Amino acid sequence: MNAPRHTARRMLPAAQFISAMTQRFGDRFSTASAVCAQHGKDESSLPPVPPDAVLFALTTQEVSEAVKLCREHHVPVIPFGTGTSLEGHLFAIHGGLSIDLSGMNQVLAVRPEDLDVTVQAGVTRKQLNNALHGTGLFFPIDPGADASLGGMAATRASGTNAVRYGTMRDNVLGMTVITADGAVIKTGSRARKSAAGYDLTRLFIGSEGTLGVITELTVRLYPIPEAISAAVCAFSAIAEAVNTVIQTIQLGVPVARIELLDAIAIKAINRHSKTTLREAPTLFFEFHGTPTGVGEQAQAVQAIASEHGGMDFEWATRPEDRSRLWQARHDAYYACLGLKPGARALTTDVCVPISRLAECIAETAADIAASGMTAPLVGHVGDGNFHQAILVDPEDPADLERAHRLSARMVERALRMDGTCTGEHGIGIGKQKYLVLEHGDAAISVMRAIKHALDPDNLMNPGKILPPA
Ligand SMILES: Cc1cc2nc3c(=O)[nH]c(=O)nc-3n(C[C@H](O)[C@H](O)[C@H](O)COP(=O)(O)OP(=O)(O)OC[C@H]3O[C@@H](n4cnc5c(N)ncnc54)[C@H](O)[C@@H]3O)c2cc1C
Repeated sequence: MNAPRHTARRMLPAAQFISAMTQRFGDRFSTASAVCAQHGKDESSLPPVPPDAVLFALTTQEVSEAVKLCREHHVPVIPFGTGTSLEGHLFAIHGGLSIDLSGMNQVLAVRPEDLDVTVQAGVTRKQLNNALHGTGLFFPIDPGADASLGGMAATRASGTNAVRYGTMRDNVLGMTVITADGAVIKTGSRARKSAAGYDLTRLFIGSEGTLGVITELTVRLYPIPEAISAAVCAFSAIAEAVNTVIQTIQLGVPVARIELLDAIAIKAINRHSKTTLREAPTLFFEFHGTPTGVGEQAQAVQAIASEHGGMDFEWATRPEDRSRLWQARHDAYYACLGLKPGARALTTDVCVPISRLAECIAETAADIAASGMTAPLVGHVGDGNFHQAILVDPEDPADLERAHRLSARMVERALRMDGTCTGEHGIGIGKQKYLVLEHGDAAISVMRAIKHALDPDNLMNPGKILPPA
């Protein structure tokens, strides 16, 4: 399995396009190479590919006008949120215009009575939660990076809370989207359920900018739980930790978060975040509910963990201790990069049914040991989703090749176990080769038909998700 190639024919924008954009958007349209370079990279180990120009958009109307100009001049459009994606989603492999939505950061309407909020697509998850301060409500989806809600919807993101609150798929009620012809459409509604026609909201969720540009979203909010407690528990073997997770989920204990880190990841965190966690496979838990409910959940999980050899069950009930613990968990990616100076990570993102998780992690651990690579495990294991961050020297083709082979074997293993090649990061260009393997030719033909119907000129983030025909 080779490292992904991402060279393609570039379509340079015509001088008339540049002049029309400059006239309309002034200095919020840029062709400066430093600005383009910033918009053609992500957090993956893949080499960046900058766009030809960048527009810093402020309104839905502006995005619509820009997409219309792109269509007129046959210029590809690549929406840009915060650039934290991990599979080359943003690379301008056919050139084109990056539409940066970070200036579209207004929280438009908070409706506590309906537990929902409407935001512009550039609002990040942390900006949203800061804006909700004092309302008693929160937005739970928390990818490790402070991503934009538009980008999170476009990648169908999730995070540590998904085991209790679901993913973007479950939490977006409706969106405003600019389609490939520049039309402004509304998908969904604020109703909690609807049986009205095709579910366009869910079609655009996970479409990675290949079908349209999301400019506004209405998402669900949740009351901040009356009681929250967090805990960490170390195990002498990874299998014991995984079996604790499986039993917890199978018994229906409504944990809010249950995350697994292996000994190498904990070592990296201790170094990076100055924590003093035991350097052993460790589960991070969080419980949400009433004080009694949280106590019962915690007791149930502690009993399961003890049965499986759990040690040092440590509690963090004060908000500052919990934040420190979860910040350390969220910093795990950068902490792991620190294990090998100059390294980039090939993150991997398989997800399997919970009953196959122990088997999948055990086979993967043996494979990594045999490969001689350093690949700490960090996982949203309550969902059956885990990442091995394979540390690679981006300048060493042999190292990259070994990492891609290891990653390919992880995907093949996950698919054999009825799982998926990506639980949350998406396809971009990095995982295209697995799409047919996962869905089969007939399903891919349906996806191609949808893409063609909505984007007949192939201008919306071209070359992503669907492998070349
Ligand atoms: C340290 C770290 C931890 C992470 N942890 C997680 C995790 O726990 N869970 C998880 O799911 N992901 C995780 N990620 C990956 C990343 O944060 C998510 O994929 C996130 O959803 C990307 O959002 P973004 O705003 O950065 O999008 P970008 O990277 O800017 O864009 C991603 C894709 O979405 C498209 N896009 C962006 N905005 C729009 C829009 N408004 N309309 C249409 N298309 C758009 C882009 O064209 C691109 O294809 C992590 C990344 C890092 C670096």
